Amino acid sequence: MIISEKKEETRNQVKEWKRQGFRVGLVPTMGYLHEGHQSLMEAAKRENDKVAVSVFVNPTQFGPNEDFASYPRDFEKDAALCEKTGVDLVFHPDAGEMYGEGFCTYVDMEGLTKELCGKSRPIHFRGVQTVVSKLFHIIPADKAYFGQKDAQQLAVIKRMACDMDMDIEIVGCPIVREADGLAKSSRNTYLNAEERQAALVLSRSLAAGRKLAEAGERDASKVKKRIEEVLGEEELARTDYVEIVDFADITPIENFAEAKKGEVLCAIAVYIGKTRLIDNFIFQLQKG
Ligand code: AMP
Repeated sequence: MIISEKKEETRNQVKEWKRQGFRVGLVPTMGYLHEGHQSLMEAAKRENDKVAVSVFVNPTQFGPNEDFASYPRDFEKDAALCEKTGVDLVFHPDAGEMYGEGFCTYVDMEGLTKELCGKSRPIHFRGVQTVVSKLFHIIPADKAYFGQKDAQQLAVIKRMACDMDMDIEIVGCPIVREADGLAKSSRNTYLNAEERQAALVLSRSLAAGRKLAEAGERDASKVKKRIEEVLGEEELARTDYVEIVDFADITPIENFAEAKKGEVLCAIAVYIGKTRLIDNFIFQLQKG
């Protein structure tokens, strides 16, 4: 497995693979890898000849009062997991390599990024789009893999790739959870034992909302209310948002039937103590 800290070396390697006719899959991450990330690597392995993983805690997607400095990092462990999973290249630049002197170009979007996480994290998606665009140029892969765990991010990246005619297929992968339902996240490491238990309210509230939808409820405000009720039962939880939107363009809907491609995203962000966690489900409307 190649470990590269340099953009040029990485791009040359990937170009060489392309020249040899290999299909290349890319998995962008911020490291502190877990089974969620691993599932993306495995999907990339199944569908490509070579797999590249980037490990980079991207400063431009963190707000001034967010957890950039304390974000967990353990590159040796990450590299070992990549090696074990059969990854071919790990790109692990530092911030200076990614954002050279005089850097002042950003990628931004008019729609999709203002709702949900965009409300409390106003510069987050601009940073995500910028770094992902850069990664697509450094690693000119055929396909890039993103988790539904960050559903808004997945929708934003799909939109960006389409709008900017990027020559790459964006593949969404299902949420990987702990046995008790908590969505796996590098940030789960911030939780103490009591908070870890309290964090189960996220998946529990979504399960209650999904149950209503599966029973035929199509009024978004009723599903939202049910999710909020369950979240309200947990003392350690403080809700940032509960939103029901059209997954296609992240616009709010009043009725599930309004979802243009039949996919309704029910997404939540909840503080457990000081840790902000997100989770969601996508409800597919039956056609016809
Ligand atoms: P991160 O390192 O948190 O920026 O995540 C890198 C990629 O892994 C993103 O596409 C995430 O959506 C994805 N990911 C993170 N956690 C999970 C999970 N529990 N299940 C599936 N994908 C995940």
